[in-house]
Amino acid sequence: MLDRRIGASTLRFAVLGESLSHTWSPYIHNSLFLAASRDAVYLPVTIGRDRLSSAVDVLRSCFAGFNVTIPYKERILPLLDEVDDAVRACGAVNTVENREGKLIGHITDGLGMLSAIDKGGVRTQSVRALILGAGGAARVAGYEFLARGGEVTFAARDAQKAGQLCAELSETQQDGQARIRICKLDSIPQTAYDILINCTPVGMYPKTEESPVTRDVVAQCRAVFDAVYNPRTTKLLAIAREEGIPAIEGLGMLFHQAVEAQKFWFGPEIGVPEEAQLSIYRELSAAL
Ligand code: NAP
Repeated sequence: MLDRRIGASTLRFAVLGESLSHTWSPYIHNSLFLAASRDAVYLPVTIGRDRLSSAVDVLRSCFAGFNVTIPYKERILPLLDEVDDAVRACGAVNTVENREGKLIGHITDGLGMLSAIDKGGVRTQSVRALILGAGGAARVAGYEFLARGGEVTFAARDAQKAGQLCAELSETQQDGQARIRICKLDSIPQTAYDILINCTPVGMYPKTEESPVTRDVVAQCRAVFDAVYNPRTTKLLAIAREEGIPAIEGLGMLFHQAVEAQKFWFGPEIGVPEEAQLSIYRELSAAL
């Protein structure tokens, strides 16, 4: 049977990385294109570190947009023409928009996380967030909660790293310094938090019996989100559910960072109704 879906007018998108054997991005984006009846295709593009610049030249000339993953999220910065405020604050890019040859960098990981939390029925505006970890995911989470008027406490095992993160993020926000606190992961102050966000890999397969914090800390929080999505129900989320606390899975972040990327490429309406998005999400979750 002839497959006429891809032709000269088809818009091309890609994910650029060094090793893409485990990426779910082509699956998610192509499913969204299909659901929106969009003449577009999304491909994994694997390149070595010495070829990044030439690969970006090719993408600039014949791709409508692309995602960037490890190890290029920071390395791509000097090759772009413009970046948004979130990228300036977080120092990394995962989505590039090609506006008539001009490459504009965005980061949608934090937007995707907060969108997953919103869709889970938990408020993200002006909340007190306790964020575990001080790496890339903690930084984007912190940036988005602060941008929505919230207060953030970073709890990390490396106090120096958390202090550095706090100093850098404070500069990007009005009243930033007053709205960010840091503490050690093993001595979290006994205060109530609206949401606990795990941005450490603790609990990830194969160490699925581990939780980054004790049950007492979980009980101080009104909701829990875990960026880890393998397994889907981590030990941390299981504890939250046992305590009767809303528990939101990290897989939603993976899915919604893709939806947020498409909003940069196509505008706020990506042409996929909520129900169709949910059905793609369910298929993704079953495929994992
Ligand atoms: P990262 O930059 O390497 O940061 C990891 C953070 O966790 C660091 O602060 C690290 O502390 C801390 N950490 C590592 N092992 C720890 C342990 N055993 N106990 C306590 N703290 C520990 O990684 P990332 O990119 O932020 O990712 C963090 C997690 O989020 C990973 O599990 C990743 O898979 C997940 N993630 C999920 C999504 C999604 O779509 N759901 C997206 C991005 C990331 P040190 O600095 O002291 O090592």
